[in-house]
Amino acid sequence: MVMTAPVRPVVGRFAPSPTGAMHLGNARTALLAWLHTRVHGGRHILRFEDLDTGRVRDWAYDATRRDLEWLGLDWDEETRQSQRLPLYAAALDRLDTYPCTCTRREIAAAMQDSAGAPHGEEAVYPGLCRDGCDADRPAARRWRVPDRTVCITDDLTGATLCQSLPSDVGDFVLQRNDGVFAYHLAVVVDDADMGVTDILRGADLWTATPRQVALQEALGFPRPRYRHVPLMTGFRGERLAKRDGAPPLMALRKAGEEPGRVLSELAGSLGASPFDAVPDEVTTAELLSLWQASVHFHPVKSRSQT
Ligand code: GLU
Ligand code: ZN
Repeated sequence: MVMTAPVRPVVGRFAPSPTGAMHLGNARTALLAWLHTRVHGGRHILRFEDLDTGRVRDWAYDATRRDLEWLGLDWDEETRQSQRLPLYAAALDRLDTYPCTCTRREIAAAMQDSAGAPHGEEAVYPGLCRDGCDADRPAARRWRVPDRTVCITDDLTGATLCQSLPSDVGDFVLQRNDGVFAYHLAVVVDDADMGVTDILRGADLWTATPRQVALQEALGFPRPRYRHVPLMTGFRGERLAKRDGAPPLMALRKAGEEPGRVLSELAGSLGASPFDAVPDEVTTAELLSLWQASVHFHPVKSRSQT
């Protein structure tokens, strides 16, 4: 008899920020996340990342749902981060944080003084408030990052990225000085709480992944599998793009565009199998069977423990 380790059922999610109309680029990420979950028979979650209330547009929730439905994408559960604040507060309490009253200007000045440009693309907080800050201003909360290096591997590309928490990342903000919880904290808490096993999202979040993994580890959460997909820059047929760059999905929907043609463009824009010869008009079910046929090339790997 062959003994196999129990496989955790796949739970995936699409996590849009309802700050405006969904563009074709978001739609492609939504499609790929959905395909990945469904091909593994998993549960799919739609999670609105709406913590930054100043940027949220009330109409965007409904517009996003309609856009997804129009394309033929579905989900088993819907949540919004704005209704889960106590969870983020509880997680924050479990972490070693300190108040920071620094302004952007103070941080920039300190970095110039300390000679040397910031490491990487993003400014690393130079730790001004690590030992206390007494300015009489509302304070953000920063995480005192552990002194170690975190490495991640992407399940889709096989790429590995290592970041030293002190020198590449720095003590980062988990709660802004207006009380808004940081995306990095919320995403990690939610993925763990919702049992998300597989994250498929835009490549713009690849370099933020080590800090999210560091938070997971500090909070004792399991590490999901990560897949980052390139951001879409152009369209194969340029037929949709002709209107004005990358139009919001809503505009195509209202103009009477066929969702099957949009799906074909989205799938074709990957420029790779299994969709390199996708017909001009397809359904999500057809894309799913194409994906299914190729999935043995991209098996769900067993959880790698680090
Ligand atoms: N809400 C994020 C965005 O719209 C995505 C977060 C994630 O997938 O982890 O870019
Ligand atoms: Zn500070």
